[in-house]
This record gives sequence, structure tokens and C-alpha cells, in this order.
Amino acid sequence: MKESIQTNNGQIDKGQWPELWEATCRLLEQTVVSSQLTAWINPLEFMEVESSDNVLKIKMNAPNDFTAQWVRDHYQRHINAALTQVIGTPCEFQIQVNSQSGEAVVNIFEELQEEEVDERRTVVEPQPQSPAPVTVFVGGGRSAQDCPDTRYVFDNFVVGASNQFAHATAVAVAEQPARQYNPLFLYSPPGLGKTHLLHAIGNRVIAHNPNARVAYLSAEKFVNELIDALQHRRMSQFRAKYRDSFDMILIDDIQFIAGKNTSEEEFFHTFNALHSSKRQIVVSSDRPPKEIEGLEERVRTRFEWGLIADISPPEIETRIAILKSKAERDDIYLPDDVATFLASYIKSNVRELEGVLIRLQAQASLTGAEISLEMAKQELKTIVIPGEGGTSYTIESIQNAVTKHFHIKIQDLKSAARTRSVSLPRQIAMYLIRKYSGLGFREIGNSFGGKDHTTILHACNKIELGIEGDKEIREAVEAIQNLL
Ligand code: ADP
Ligand code: MG
Repeated sequence: MKESIQTNNGQIDKGQWPELWEATCRLLEQTVVSSQLTAWINPLEFMEVESSDNVLKIKMNAPNDFTAQWVRDHYQRHINAALTQVIGTPCEFQIQVNSQSGEAVVNIFEELQEEEVDERRTVVEPQPQSPAPVTVFVGGGRSAQDCPDTRYVFDNFVVGASNQFAHATAVAVAEQPARQYNPLFLYSPPGLGKTHLLHAIGNRVIAHNPNARVAYLSAEKFVNELIDALQHRRMSQFRAKYRDSFDMILIDDIQFIAGKNTSEEEFFHTFNALHSSKRQIVVSSDRPPKEIEGLEERVRTRFEWGLIADISPPEIETRIAILKSKAERDDIYLPDDVATFLASYIKSNVRELEGVLIRLQAQASLTGAEISLEMAKQELKTIVIPGEGGTSYTIESIQNAVTKHFHIKIQDLKSAARTRSVSLPRQIAMYLIRKYSGLGFREIGNSFGGKDHTTILHACNKIELGIEGDKEIREAVEAIQNLL
């Protein structure tokens, strides 16, 4: 490749790619489960970049066909969007196979298929870096996917008034599982540390007792595994796994099972099995049990047996402390005035705070300058949308209001799904961001997982017309504006 390449934000030198890729992976952490990131995305190697028609084509090497295909099918869009955000220029990610390591692939693939039939074994996610798959023989115990993520621990969780109670209960549960608070039910809006606390509980338990069998999983995974078990007639294994083989189960985003009858039923029995044998259950949700629509009464009652703790958006001091702690951990130079500035604008979501810090760091390494107040102001320009009366909206706060109103997930807004139940909310979000920010179509497209400018244009026109002539659209837009 050439030694350097021109982007909208200036020159990028070849030597800067490792750093840019690292920043991209850190942004991806917000949308891709970390075990998947480690298994599939981290091992990719940067090959070359070329610029055509204002788009940077970034070529990366995968160690084998299997990985290349998997990444293409599952993560292409995420990676495009993250690269585009980090580099500030539309990016298209292309994956090719490193021919030198092509051979080991076949083995991984074949062995994997064998594993699937042999149910006595639990397969650890294939690590594309290593030539042979790692197989552990455990009596239905923990697989890599069920493990807590070791990056999330109590030590790097900043405690303030907004999360003090949830934190204290989480520590109590980790120190003395199934004693005082069983189940522990944590809830909050997105990005406030529920997942972090769940992993931290698991990690603390394992630190005290390395043999403890702790499972961390999302409710979505529970549902998917259940469907798979039903399909392949493996219900007895599924039940044995969740009812008998763990000492503690941490289930994230439990609201996902609401209204899915078979899943709720199965969860109910899993819960009873664990609870009656004095094993700890911790669940998180985006709202309290009584507000989870469609949740069966008997499941709701179970949640209310234990302790329910909420987390609210952190106060400014906590937000500053979180930023400083992240900067210190990642060795980022972050001046006090910048921390205060960022914390005073980004109020409702810690994930968003982290995102800005990562982007600033990428900017700093791109331009070779240190992070400064000027740079931070420039960065926030694209995401902070001044509202009426001195309030400020961010792209994320608008997206959150829309997802809340329509009861959909933020991933749906950024997805390519075209069913009306997500396309209408997506179009309304695009319209509102355009209305309040005057941002360009391209920038708006980027914040929806890399959508084309014509998509944004179409959305804005459609909603504008809808407000005039369609009661449903008009009422939805009004209700969302009230949520902001
Ligand atoms: P949730 O599950 O509530 O959506 P997460 O636990 O995923 O939120 O948190 C989003 C990000 O913010 C994570 O990277 C997490 O480490 C970080 N975070 C949230 N709260 C805190 C906190 N109090 N201290 C440090 N980091 C935090
Ligand atoms: Mg979470």
C-alpha cells in the first residue's frame, strides 16, 4: 500500500492503522458481544487501503475462509459503520483470506461439525487464531460464551449516588450468593452499567472460588438456545444445563423473554430449580418487573421475591470520574477541562460518554495532536443537537426516545430490517435528527449503521408528508418530541 492516504480529515499514515483498528474494535465493543469480538474480529489483520470516489476501501486478512465468511455474514455492517465513525470518512471494509494459514481451516470446520453431534462435550467458540479447536470436557458446565467477561469488574465500576444501591446489592450478592437477595433484579435505561455489574458479580464469585460454576448469558441467548433445543430434540440437555449445572446464573436483558410463552415457561422452571436449591439468580432489565409488558404474572411475582434495584443516569461528578477512569485505564491523555465539558453535555448514557472518548482518541492519533477542548467541541458538534430553551439532544437521545416509544431495540433502528414495525420508527428518528440538527444526510446515515443518503432523504420526505396527512405518524412524532 502507499505510505499514506488522504481522507476527509487529512492524511493517514500506514503506521497509524494499528491504532485506528484498535479504536474501531473498541467502538465495536458497544454493538458486538465481546466473546464474538475476540473470536472473530480481533484476529483480522490489516492489509491495505485505497481511496476511490471518496470511499476508503479497507482490506483485511482473515486467517481462513470460515472466519472470512462468518465476519462477512455477521459483522460487515457493524465494521463499516465503526470504521466510518473512527476515520470520519465513508469506509467499506473488505475481507480476504490469508492464503498461508488456509489449511488449518478445514480442520476447524470439520471438527466443529463433529462436536455438534457429540453432546457430552461443550465446544469453546473456535478461536480462529489457533489452528486447532479447543475442546473442554465438562459435565455440561460453562462454555466460553457463558463466561463472565473479565474486563468488567467492580474495581473499574465508578460508584456515585445514581448507582450506589445497585452496586452495593451486587457486591452483597457476589460476596454471599443466595443468602440475602435472591433473585437480584437490576434495571435501568440503556448504557448505565447493568451488564457491567452482572459480569462483575460473576467475576468476583469466580475470584473467591475458581471452581464456582457461573453462567452469564443474555435472555436472547436463552431464547435462541431453547429454540435450537426444541428443534433438535435436545430439551433434556437444555434443561440439564440450565437447571442443574450452574451455581449461579446471570441473565441480561430479561425483558426479551416477555410475551414468548415457551421461553417464559422454561425460564420459570429454571428459576424455580435454582431458587429452591439455594442458587443465586441475577437478572437485568430495561424496566422494573411491573412495567414489562406481556410478562406472565407468576414470573413477575418471582422477580419481586428478591431485591429490585435501579440505576439512574449518573450525576456530573460521576460522569467526570467515569471519563477519567476510562482515560487512565486506556492511557489516554484527557485534560480536566475536556472531561468536564464532555460530562456536562453527555448526560444520560455512559456508553455514549465512552464512545466520544474513543473517537477523540482516534482523532488525536490521526492528527498527531493531543486531545483538546477545541477538538472536543468540534466532535460534539456532530452529536449534540441544541434543543429549545438551552436543552441539548444528542443523536442517541433521539434514537432512545424513538425506541422507547415504539418498544424496539436500538439495534433495530440501525439494522437493515424493512418491516414496518422498525422502518417507520427508523424514519421518524431520521426525520427528527435532521429537523433538530441540520446534520448532513451522510452523517445521519452513519448514525444508523451506515445508511445511504437517499434513504435519509426518503425518510425525511415521507415523515414530513405523514405529519400532514397521517394521524398515526403525527401522533407518534408528537409523543416522541414530548419524551425528549
Ligand atoms: P447497560 O447494560 O446498562 O446497557 P453497560 O453495562 O453495557 O450498560 O454499560 C455501558 C458502558 O458503560 C460499559 O462499557 C460500562 O463499562 C460503562 N459503565 C457504565 N456504568 C459505569 C460506571 N459506573 N463506571 C464505569 N463504567 C461504567
Ligand atoms: Mg446491557
